[in-house]
Amino acid sequence: MSLPGHPHIAYRNGALHIEDCPAADLAQRFGTPLYVYSRGSMLAALAPYQRALAGRRHLVCYAVKANPNLSVLQTFARAGCGFDIVSGGELERVLAAGGDAGKVVFSGVGKTRREMARALEVGVRCFNVESTAELEALSEVAQAHGKRAPVSLRVNPNVDAKTHPYISTGLTHNKFGIAHEEALAAYRRAAELPGIAVHGIDCHIGSQITEPGPYLDALDKVLDLIEAVEAEGIRLTHIDFGGGLGITYTDEAPPAADALITALLKRLDDRGHGQRELILEPGRSLVGNAGVLLTEVLYLKPSAHKNFCIVDAAMNDLLRPTLYEAVMGIVPCAPRAGAAEHTWDIVGPVCESGDWLGRDRRLAVQAGDVLAILSAGAYGMSMASHYNTRPKPAEVMVDGAEAWIVRERETVADLFAREQLAR
Ligand SMILES: *Cc1c(COP(=O)(O)O)cnc(C)c1O
Repeated sequence: MSLPGHPHIAYRNGALHIEDCPAADLAQRFGTPLYVYSRGSMLAALAPYQRALAGRRHLVCYAVKANPNLSVLQTFARAGCGFDIVSGGELERVLAAGGDAGKVVFSGVGKTRREMARALEVGVRCFNVESTAELEALSEVAQAHGKRAPVSLRVNPNVDAKTHPYISTGLTHNKFGIAHEEALAAYRRAAELPGIAVHGIDCHIGSQITEPGPYLDALDKVLDLIEAVEAEGIRLTHIDFGGGLGITYTDEAPPAADALITALLKRLDDRGHGQRELILEPGRSLVGNAGVLLTEVLYLKPSAHKNFCIVDAAMNDLLRPTLYEAVMGIVPCAPRAGAAEHTWDIVGPVCESGDWLGRDRRLAVQAGDVLAILSAGAYGMSMASHYNTRPKPAEVMVDGAEAWIVRERETVADLFAREQLAR
């Protein structure tokens, strides 16, 4: 029986499996804390995007920041994906993983001139430009390299994505994008700059969006703007509609990717924009439910007020719970049949009261048990830090019954290798 929202993660004969690999065996073999990713799950999450877009001019650009492990990028590159990047570092990862620069879109409010030059050199598909100041800088850099930079302007449609404030990006008080009412002037400026070639329009309204309404509202605003821009003789060929589709962590019920895309395509057709190329930038929805974080229970610390289950993973390994108060599923790898459940806060060893991974969870656990934190494939390892001089977890990719290391566990010596004692 697979877990809700996690088709490749299931209990079989009383043991949690990731595809055909028992999770407890992986923990034993590779140690904990351990990130484990299911390749089948990633490809299964991509399939509805590709299905719904078949027959249309389109590009699915996996958002690298969700999980930038080279093997993850390689998986999507081989499946034909492009990439949405937000830094020069992510660009190098894409190239190292065999990705095609010509399918890369470069987003982000603070691209440096050096990053722009490198992206021009390798020939990225498009720069998603977020301000007129950036437009001027990009034009100068492109001219200095004898090029014209392909550009779409990221517009901020001012719609409420109805998600956590930290991951909402499409409101006027967010730092992202160009305000809707300033976009026309920015397009006029872009069209006259010598180092810029206007290609498209871009928007990304937030993350972990669980209803279609905000998407359709944003699309209408983008189409209004396209019509206004084209009325001035500035041609736009593609619409980049960003990412942001939510996943089921516990009881969320986001629309399926193919249903959402079908609704978006219908709106495009109804308004006479069906011929435009559609670029999408999904991150979380492709990898979130493909990953788990395995962690061993170190100590139980029951008390009159609160019961703490202290595990070897912590906020530095998985920041989402404390950063967004995110609720992530936590399940035992080998459930103790018949044992009494108690209510536990699952906490790590880091010296912060905010270091918790789950609160008030009903579990039957003992020291030495291995727990799986679900839906940890997106914004898990990619947000990990070394706080408290904790080496980052190893990462493992599973394909059927095979499992192999895709990032070695760091050693403590790695963490201070670049430091020096004072003179
Ligand atoms: C983060 C981000 C994405 C991916 O968002 P998800 O919620 O992971 O799908 C796509 N585009 C841009 C510009 C982003 O910043």
